[in-house]
Amino acid sequence: MNLAYSRLKEILPKLNEEVITPETIFAAFKTLDIEYHELSLKENGYYVPASESETGKDYVFLKRGLTQFLWHETLAHESIHSFIHIPVLFLLRKHELEAEVLALICMMPITDLKRLNKIKGQLDDESYELLQRRNKANKEWRL
Ligand SMILES: [Zn+2]
Repeated sequence: MNLAYSRLKEILPKLNEEVITPETIFAAFKTLDIEYHELSLKENGYYVPASESETGKDYVFLKRGLTQFLWHETLAHESIHSFIHIPVLFLLRKHELEAEVLALICMMPITDLKRLNKIKGQLDDESYELLQRRNKANKEWRL
């Protein structure tokens, strides 16, 4: 996890200091030449690596019409795959865990955790659940 974190930190220097906004992610897409599209999909999003695309470019696809929070979280998750993961079959589960935890860090930087935990009683169920997972990542990897 810490290696993945360090690699992502090189691409997103404000990782775990500030919320990683969609604008920051789109700027990184531009720098890294990653194509982004929203389509009618069954799943919330997915990533096609350059090695598997016809054009030799990386692609991130998101489902059209996701609600704001889920859209942001899915954008972060799929972006992380495109930024740091070269798909290898035996690493897929590790990659999913890394993308999930790092997406939570994009949404909830450590600098904001204290404040979020103070107001956790006021959060909706979905946000509360995500905060609990973020706290677990903090405890497990000190990130
Ligand atoms: Zn994933």
